[in-house]
Amino acid sequence: MGLLDDIDEVLIPEATLHARIRELGAQISSDYEGKDPLLIGILTGAVLFIADLLRQITIPAHLDFMAISSYGSATESSGVVRILKDLNQTIEGRHVLVVDDIVDTGLTMDYLLETLKARYPASLRVCALLDKASRRKRHVPIHYRGFEIPDKFVVGYGLDYGGTYRNLPFICVLKPEVYR
Ligand code: 5GP
Repeated sequence: MGLLDDIDEVLIPEATLHARIRELGAQISSDYEGKDPLLIGILTGAVLFIADLLRQITIPAHLDFMAISSYGSATESSGVVRILKDLNQTIEGRHVLVVDDIVDTGLTMDYLLETLKARYPASLRVCALLDKASRRKRHVPIHYRGFEIPDKFVVGYGLDYGGTYRNLPFICVLKPEVYR
């Protein structure tokens, strides 16, 4: 059985993802002209997104990564966050754009933004591919949003379930029996 057999529904096809990422890249390129932004990708889910987004940015931009762990079950975050890998550079005075795969309850991003704000960046914005706005517990300002999606657990294009499905090139929902 291949990965495709586990899919119930494709929510965002590959071409739709790439068309939207082109738009986001154009918007970011225009907004950050002359500012030399630092894009911070949140490992591991945002890797595919940031790799494609970066290629659509036409101004000089820098890249760094952070890894954080959010305690909780496989499908629910708890808001208790630990930094597993920190940035390779200081961000004081830099124009920072945090790039993540999905903002769900907002607990993880809220914590992360507080942590980064304490390091005095010149500016701090969020770019999230997916926004599950109906699930929000903490307000998170998302300046660049790919898509708002319904309250469904999604995988593909970097997002996993138990470490699997990241390599699917689209965003989809798995069949219920996969979780049993
Ligand atoms: P939050 O703290 O906003 O509730 O959750 C953020 C993190 O939970 C995301 O970065 C992601 O790792 C995980 N997450 C939330 N919703 C989903 C989902 O639908 N699919 C997957 N694969 N991960 C999710």
